[in-house]
Amino acid sequence: MRTIEDYRDIVGDGVISNIYRKARKLYGKHILEINSTYQGGGVAEMLSSFIHLMNDIGIETDWNILHGTPDFFEITKLFHNALQGKPANLTENKRHIYLQTNEEFYMYTHISHDLVIVHDPQPLPLIKFYKKGQPWVWRCHIDISNPDKNLWEFLKPFILRYDMAILSNEKYKKNDLPVEQKIIYPAIDPLSPKNIDLSDEVIEKTLRKFDVKTDKPLITQISRYDLWKDPEGVLEVFKLVKEKVDCRLILCGSMATDDPEGLKVYERIKRKANRLIRSGDIILLNAENNTLVNSLQRRSAVVVQKSIREGFGLTISEALWKETPVVASNVGGIPIQIIDGENGFLVDPYDIKDCANKVITLLQNPALAEDMGKKGKEMVRKNFLITRLVQDYLDMLSQMLL
Ligand code: UDP
Repeated sequence: MRTIEDYRDIVGDGVISNIYRKARKLYGKHILEINSTYQGGGVAEMLSSFIHLMNDIGIETDWNILHGTPDFFEITKLFHNALQGKPANLTENKRHIYLQTNEEFYMYTHISHDLVIVHDPQPLPLIKFYKKGQPWVWRCHIDISNPDKNLWEFLKPFILRYDMAILSNEKYKKNDLPVEQKIIYPAIDPLSPKNIDLSDEVIEKTLRKFDVKTDKPLITQISRYDLWKDPEGVLEVFKLVKEKVDCRLILCGSMATDDPEGLKVYERIKRKANRLIRSGDIILLNAENNTLVNSLQRRSAVVVQKSIREGFGLTISEALWKETPVVASNVGGIPIQIIDGENGFLVDPYDIKDCANKVITLLQNPALAEDMGKKGKEMVRKNFLITRLVQDYLDMLSQMLL
């Protein structure tokens, strides 16, 4: 099990000592985190490292999962999409299932913690069912700058009950929400199996195991099979790139247990990939495997993130940490991580041609790619590592509890 000292070589002793100093005031406090999946997607990825480190530094932190039926997750995915701007048909039945699932959790989960952190819309209404005896914080990882109005009006009364909302981007703050809104950027764990250094031997062996040939440059997008991640757009970009440079495209997407749309999108992309390019140079992977993701991010010539919306986009920081250059859409949390032309390229999410040109530029200029990769790693070291996230949370806890 990793401990906070293990990060000394990466972030320096000053950061480690600062974390202990901030934690000291909070000893004896008991925190509860609630989300809706242990596995798949950025929230579970972050929590699995974060919870261990909080406990390691002496802040007792529990992690509970809101269990739901497939119906429930269909509805909350609809909410997720609607919070990102897609119109939603919010029926009485959907509201009922949403609230009922939360009420069931309340019946079997007893909360006596000093502070509760609730992630995203799935467990948002839980707060309504408890007799509130401590501060509650809503941690929203989604871009809520332009939500479907009906859904926002339905969810807002629950958010009003919270003592703070934490968002991932200054741009997501809501004028019509009179609750304290704090910005905390997400972060990656440099020592997790997904991000830890790998030898060339392990990388090659892992890629062989998943039938990923490395005889041509690899272009990769790693994302849940979700239309917001625009995998179809990536296929079109690849078609243009392939006219200039012989290369392979890897789309790697696991299925999050709280995202029921994945399989449908996967099938659709598979059909489109077969229509578009018959050479076998498009590889669709569907595996929940951190070493595979790590190997792909290290071995790829370019990582692409062609999202239409992106709450933050941990995949960007993951690739940059491995010194792999990234071409990504200028949306949501992506421009927080990429300075255009410095440590990667930002493109208009609907400009396929520009995206393809930027990928080609990187494929044809290894020195530029290397320079951007190096700058990318330093950007992540300074701003997007889990040790910074722990410090931000300790500050937030001090503010709420002391
Ligand atoms: N991920 C993964 N396997 C996959 C696809 C995605 O492990 O096949 C991980 C990815 O490495 C990242 C997380 O899922 O850690 C996605 O987080 P991000 O913030 O990029 O997007 P989200 O899924 O939360 O919208």
